[in-house]
Amino acid sequence: MRQGRIIKSISGFYDVIDNENDKLIRTRARGNFRKRGIKPIVGDMVSYEDGGDLGYILELLPRTNSLVRPPIANVNQAIVVTSAIEPKFSSNLLDKILINIEHNDIQPLIYLTKSDLISDNEYQDLKKILSGYNEADYVVFDDQDSYNNEQLLALENHFADKVTVFTGQSGAGKSTLLNHINPELNIATAAISQTLNRGKHTTRQVSLFEISGGLVADTPGFSSLDLIDIDKEELPKLFPEFVKYSPECKFRGCMHVNEPGCKVKEMVEENVIMKSRYDNYLYFLNEINSYKKRY
Ligand code: ZN
Repeated sequence: MRQGRIIKSISGFYDVIDNENDKLIRTRARGNFRKRGIKPIVGDMVSYEDGGDLGYILELLPRTNSLVRPPIANVNQAIVVTSAIEPKFSSNLLDKILINIEHNDIQPLIYLTKSDLISDNEYQDLKKILSGYNEADYVVFDDQDSYNNEQLLALENHFADKVTVFTGQSGAGKSTLLNHINPELNIATAAISQTLNRGKHTTRQVSLFEISGGLVADTPGFSSLDLIDIDKEELPKLFPEFVKYSPECKFRGCMHVNEPGCKVKEMVEENVIMKSRYDNYLYFLNEINSYKKRY
């Protein structure tokens, strides 16, 4: 019995890369998967039997997480493509994307695009905002020349031994970025977007590409997001800089709103934690509370 990871699925066949020798094997899932209502997806770690021409998946290993659109399991990090303009940079949307990613136990990295289309002053302001994200422990790529080789290489250096997905608002320049990294990825994306538009009953195909020692996939861009899966108690845990200071809050389980002796609020006042992040936190908390009332 061997172990590996599914990197591609086509009409009932699964291409698996072996954990030890990196060999690519075409497999099928044993019939008992369907009976148990389990469907292997791209990114799944599996144990399998190498049957020569065709192998058989015997067991799926537990997933650390799984995305729905498109279905990918065990994602380690997400490159959040964020444009300076068209669509205009919004800290509210960026924070919403970041917490949705953190909620899935995925590490977000921020990649700024289209900053050559704004004035130097506007760029300096944006860079200042993004340095705040850097302080909050996010990796940020914010060169004014978005696709310069040095920055692209720095990005690819994060791929090794990980499963990375690309995400971002529609029109943020994700396709252009992918084209610079690997045009094959981009072609695959166009195919996914088409099948997604065709309706919910079509099978969505997604593949993981081997790039710079890791596995990479794209996800379709999105235009809106909600926080429906996130509990109010979870929300403060999705802001890394709040997590860092909350042990110093006077009360355990502090929500950093009106509680006395709140270290997070103190850090906001001292400009250690970005005011915009804190304001967005209060805004999201309010949004989550309003969902609760509706149901
Ligand atoms: Zn607090």
